[in-house]
Amino acid sequence: APESSAQLLQGLNPEQLAAVTWPPQSALVLAGAGSGKTRVLTTRIAWLLQTRQAGVHSIMAVTFTNKAAKEMQTRLGAMIPVNVRAMWLGTFHGLCHRFLRLHHREAELPASFQILDSGDQLSLVKRLLKSQNIAEEIIAPRSLQGFINAQKESGLRADKLEAPDPHTRRMIECYAEYDKICRREGVVDFAELMLRSYEILQRNDILRQHYQNRFNHILVDEFQDTNKLQYAWLKLMAGDSAAVFAVGDDDQSIYRFRGANVGNMTALMHEFGIDAPIKLEQNYRSVGNILAAANAVIENNDERLGKNLRTDAAAGDKIRYLSAPSDFEEAQFIIDEAKSLHREGWPLSEMAVLYRSNAQSRVIEQALFRAGVPYKIYGGLRFYERQEIKHALAYLRLAVNPDDDNALLRVINMPPRGIGARTIENLQTASAEQGISLWQAACNAGAKAAKTAAFVRLIESLRNQVGQLSLPEILAGILKDSGLIEYYQTQKSDHQDRLDNLDELVNAAIEFNPEESNFEILPDNIAAADPAFPLLAFLSNAALESGENQAGQGEDAIQLMTVHASKGLEFNVVFLTGMEEGRFPSEMSLAERGGLEEERRLMYVAITRARKRLYISMAQQRMLHGQTQFGIVSRFVEEIPPEVLHYLSAKKAAFASFDTPKPRSDIRAAETYQAAKTYGGFKIGQNVRHPKFGTGVIIDAVDKGESARLTINFGKEGVKELDTKYAKLEAV
Ligand code: ATP
Ligand code: MG
Repeated sequence: APESSAQLLQGLNPEQLAAVTWPPQSALVLAGAGSGKTRVLTTRIAWLLQTRQAGVHSIMAVTFTNKAAKEMQTRLGAMIPVNVRAMWLGTFHGLCHRFLRLHHREAELPASFQILDSGDQLSLVKRLLKSQNIAEEIIAPRSLQGFINAQKESGLRADKLEAPDPHTRRMIECYAEYDKICRREGVVDFAELMLRSYEILQRNDILRQHYQNRFNHILVDEFQDTNKLQYAWLKLMAGDSAAVFAVGDDDQSIYRFRGANVGNMTALMHEFGIDAPIKLEQNYRSVGNILAAANAVIENNDERLGKNLRTDAAAGDKIRYLSAPSDFEEAQFIIDEAKSLHREGWPLSEMAVLYRSNAQSRVIEQALFRAGVPYKIYGGLRFYERQEIKHALAYLRLAVNPDDDNALLRVINMPPRGIGARTIENLQTASAEQGISLWQAACNAGAKAAKTAAFVRLIESLRNQVGQLSLPEILAGILKDSGLIEYYQTQKSDHQDRLDNLDELVNAAIEFNPEESNFEILPDNIAAADPAFPLLAFLSNAALESGENQAGQGEDAIQLMTVHASKGLEFNVVFLTGMEEGRFPSEMSLAERGGLEEERRLMYVAITRARKRLYISMAQQRMLHGQTQFGIVSRFVEEIPPEVLHYLSAKKAAFASFDTPKPRSDIRAAETYQAAKTYGGFKIGQNVRHPKFGTGVIIDAVDKGESARLTINFGKEGVKELDTKYAKLEAV
């Protein structure tokens, strides 16, 4: 660790230095990708601590993901020898969670309150609609879920809302009912974490003053993506005296569809007395060609605050572009490249595969799995979202809070123990009539209801173990006693996977250290002494981190994630996949105002994740949601200057880099073979441009000697059959 602050500041450029050592006043650093914003923010924390301008307790730092929080913690730990764990460092949700755990009484929550993830939330919404006799055709569960979250994210409770029409009125009534159920069950959803802590701060003068006195420095990364409520929360935490140090990049604002508000930047400058933003213009991350591509793409946006970005780095490799005949070949290509880079000595963990939507990951995952290449997924269907894991966690949730109706419904008859729908309905009626939880209703059912009584006994014995046995012991015990393991052993299909996952969960419990979890409660807090503390910490971790703490951590593995999840991260090698029009930019975004510009910012984020090498690929044909879809290249690829692109041929990609080149007998090999043949000078799979229909991909062809009849998919213009003799086609 450096001994003097001079060492800490070494290597910073003059603008960065000015930002790091900014006086204890508010500031906004507005700068492009890879210019060192996060590094500046982290170094500033270290510098404040080292020069004793602030103690760990008086600093709050907000990051965008848990992964980023962990990285920051590690870096700080290496920079300066203080207990960074005691610091309030985390995501908005993580910090609010911590706040509510500390102040659950003020929040009117049980000490053991649980977090609903979005799957839990959806099932609660469905239950609610059913109990209100509202058909899903009238109010779709997902739309109600979206409605509730959107209201909460704008800080609005049901009683603050006005209904312009009867439909909205029903939604508002459901929202009110939803909140009532959550309160009764002692559960909170993600949006509620934020809103509830905001409301307490607003209402409770003593708490607010405490925090305003406590935090002298509040530092926020990725500030462009804060929403109104988060900004309002920050303001309450900051009060009049704290210095807010925010860093951000308007070109990387990618959550406007979720209410993120770039206007917060102007508001911050206004309300915190900042005259002008600090700008950083040197990019330290990417080689010249990658930066040139990023700059050229984002140029096409109109709505920009305006920034420059240059680099001293060499031009480096060109961006490798592949138009693969199918998603299958795209995946195979990625694996072949990754393997050969790995052989050259690049770690797998320094390679990322990015995609626009989660659904695209399956094919790549499968191919990686078959090839035996370790990978790790961030987001998507994650470990903690798998059915068997949720069942197991539901038992743990009941151990700390039996009034958690969602958890109870999940496992009252799972594994099946003869408690039928009728019995459950009766419990629900009793619970609704008497305003009690399902658990209480089950306890009241008496010995006559023998099966229910046996379930109650099972949960009671589980509850008795809390504080007596360790977390892994409790978990392993309940997996056995509940019959869950036996149930999966007797299942025919995919049972081994599920049993493995349950084993893995016990492993996770063994490895889990509540003191080290991201959202640990301060050591001096009584909650840490609570016998349920390890369980609570484990469950909160599972709900909040979802996937960021998967099995196999520490193993060298390729990183798979959506572009959204990649924000703020960097990798030596990036594979940007699925670059098809309608997929990225997504079809939906094109219909919305400002949608295309938001997608382009997303593209900018994707490109700027790469340090040394960037691969961009598309599939001319892809299976998605059970349908074959034909694609043409994304307009964003066309916005990249050709001089920084290197085109790879599909044929080479499909065959060239196998370990042992052997012809393949499956259909795809035949397709690829066909793709090599020319028809009137064109190939199947090739991208072409037509003066009227625009860009398209050739999906079929019939040879007619001199000319050929081509079937071309022009995307929105539809599929056309054209003769090469008459149609003015040019290759692109
Ligand atoms: P993003 O907008 O993508 O979040 P950022 O502005 O936060 O990017 P950082 O992640 O802080 O950028 O920095 C990008 C890379 O450049 C990091 O690897 C960082 O260590 C490196 N870097 C930043 N400043 C310097 C510097 N002065 N000298 C050398 N390397 C630097
Ligand atoms: Mg950053």
